[in-house]
Amino acid sequence: MGLFDRALKDAINKGVQSAVSKAVEGAVRPAADKLAQQTAHAVTDKASEHIGEIKASVNEANAAMAEANEAARDVTPEQWNQAFSYLEGMANDAAKKMKLCPICGEMVKGEMQFCPHCGAKLPDKTLAELALCPNCGKQNPPGSDFCSECGAKLPGKQLAEEAEAEKDRAVLARWSERLPQFPVWSCGGSHFDLAELEEGRFCFSAWFSGDSAAAQRSVRLYREALKEQGFRQAGRYPSEEHLYKMVDGVCWHADTEHCFEGDADAPSLYFARGDEPSGGFDYVKPEAPKKKAGGLLGSLFG
Ligand SMILES: [Zn+2]
Ligand SMILES: [Zn+2]
Repeated sequence: MGLFDRALKDAINKGVQSAVSKAVEGAVRPAADKLAQQTAHAVTDKASEHIGEIKASVNEANAAMAEANEAARDVTPEQWNQAFSYLEGMANDAAKKMKLCPICGEMVKGEMQFCPHCGAKLPDKTLAELALCPNCGKQNPPGSDFCSECGAKLPGKQLAEEAEAEKDRAVLARWSERLPQFPVWSCGGSHFDLAELEEGRFCFSAWFSGDSAAAQRSVRLYREALKEQGFRQAGRYPSEEHLYKMVDGVCWHADTEHCFEGDADAPSLYFARGDEPSGGFDYVKPEAPKKKAGGLLGSLFG
């Protein structure tokens, strides 16, 4: 559910709740007031003398409550729909004058350039304009991604994608700065994240929106990119999933073994500085001892 839909639903819920509570209050309040008064009296004038009246007031209040419940039950589906489309109309009107902050999700006035809540640059277009089809001109409900008339991508969706691409570019720029030893990711996906888990240890993740085959392909591609930059298998237990490179005496390690321990469409790659494989980077498997010529042939020809 989009931010706008949620805001709309909240508004409707609030409207309905306040209408119901007003109705209940109107019905119950006079009886409750009377009850409170009489209770106060009763306390001062010895409760026992008024017990019968108090009971009557309680009954009166209960009856009023039942009446209010009955009234709420009488609202027909048509009335609910009317209330809903009325509120929807109001929301659509509001959308013409409002913008949605792409960073913190608050609704702000359409004439604002920067979000008063978080300082982010606001889009030029209002919520309604972001749902206006650039292809056929249909005004779609605010928050729509595609035109319900012709299927064209709407400006709001376009803007969200551009903002996402901008964030991804920023992540890759940080990669170049923090992890220059490893080839910068160019294997697809979106919603990149690069986290420094602890000093010298990083985790990078990308998202392939449900396409786990594409996610696996991207990791294979990245292993190729690592090898092209001189990373290789090393140590006592060489593996395609752990590639190492020695630069000026420091061992750099790319770990793609635990890529898919989270979501199948969002690989996580781990990078570490000074992480040597078991047995050491230069580990060489000892050669099997040469067989001595022996046995029957050996004794015949030896
Ligand atoms: Zn904001
Ligand atoms: Zn359209």
